[in-house]
Amino acid sequence: MNIKRLELKNFRNYKDETIELPSGASVFLGQNAQGKTNILEAVYYAALGRSHRTSADMELVRWDEGEALLSLDFFRMSAENKLEFRFFRDSRRKIFRNGAPIRMKDLVGTINVVLFSPEDLFLIKGAPAGRRRFLDMEISQADPSYFYDLAVYTRLLTQRNTLLKRVRDGEADESEIPLWDVQIVPRAVNLIKKRIDTVKKLDELASGTQREISGGREKLSLRYELHGADGDMTKDLFSWYNEKLAESLRLDIVRGVTRFGPHRDDLAFFVNGTDLRAFGSQGQQRTGVLSLKLAELAFFKEETGEYPILLLDDVMSELDRDRREKLLSFIRGEKMQALITATDEAYFPSGSFENFFCVSHGTVTAR
Ligand code: ATP
Ligand code: MG
Repeated sequence: MNIKRLELKNFRNYKDETIELPSGASVFLGQNAQGKTNILEAVYYAALGRSHRTSADMELVRWDEGEALLSLDFFRMSAENKLEFRFFRDSRRKIFRNGAPIRMKDLVGTINVVLFSPEDLFLIKGAPAGRRRFLDMEISQADPSYFYDLAVYTRLLTQRNTLLKRVRDGEADESEIPLWDVQIVPRAVNLIKKRIDTVKKLDELASGTQREISGGREKLSLRYELHGADGDMTKDLFSWYNEKLAESLRLDIVRGVTRFGPHRDDLAFFVNGTDLRAFGSQGQQRTGVLSLKLAELAFFKEETGEYPILLLDDVMSELDRDRREKLLSFIRGEKMQALITATDEAYFPSGSFENFFCVSHGTVTAR
């Protein structure tokens, strides 16, 4: 997977900029607030149909302008394609692939990205919602049917929660609830199965990278945590989740929320058997995140046959020299397309990378 050209018109602080991207790694250097992250945001948007920093598309349109364009020419399995996004200040954005309008559910999976930014360093320490989002974004890109199931599940869950509140307040009858459950359970089971499957694959890949980065000292393992399941699951998921919903119905009605399901599960990290979320040192957590990101790249390669585009936003300054070199030598060795931003050139030993761009006040110049 390779982006050849990126065109930004009235996108964030870019007026009209076309960037020809070489394959392999490109380093975007510039002072703060010049537009480095905006470039990565554009590529991330093209992959997932949303920004990683805002849910309001309007913010992407250059101030004082009514419309914006984001356009990418890219190669996937050697076939050239074009994706275009048109943003409007007062209506919904439109997406086109090779000139024809497409919908969001047909977009996801067209371009694959792995983003690594300083916020990811909180992935292990932070709240479970961040780790669920990580899994959801990852699996959706590799398997668009997951994205669809997730959207349907989220909608059904909101409807079920509204109904629970209405039953509690005497506005609806309890007998309506099973009508939602017959729809929710199969979706939930699909999501959980795919998450468990993906976590197994990531576990294998990440334990290998962690061993290497830690010089053989640390064994990292990843486990999917099914909220409400104690220990080993002997029942099939379908019956288990049905029973869980039935068991928790009284309390669900009182609280007006569904207390069990994929929206409450978590991803656990262990190093040498110790839970990294609660007990990992900062260094161990950073190594864990780096191992996870490298595992993500390998995961996409296995699932789709190609490396995704790696977006590294400002992480050089966050990693120590050893981890930084592990990451950079991996990128060089695997020859994947990577867009790397930094404020300081010193992180890139001379001769290590060829393609440098200077970003200044919304203009990008190749050096
Ligand atoms: P840092 O090194 O601090 O991360 P950066 O180079 O990554 O900086 P970006 O986040 O890419 O910076 O760009 C920020 C710049 O873009 C800011 O100057 C901001 O004011 C400007 N900007 C953001 N949104 C818009 C918009 N809709 N219209 C015009 N300018 C915008
Ligand atoms: Mg930035």
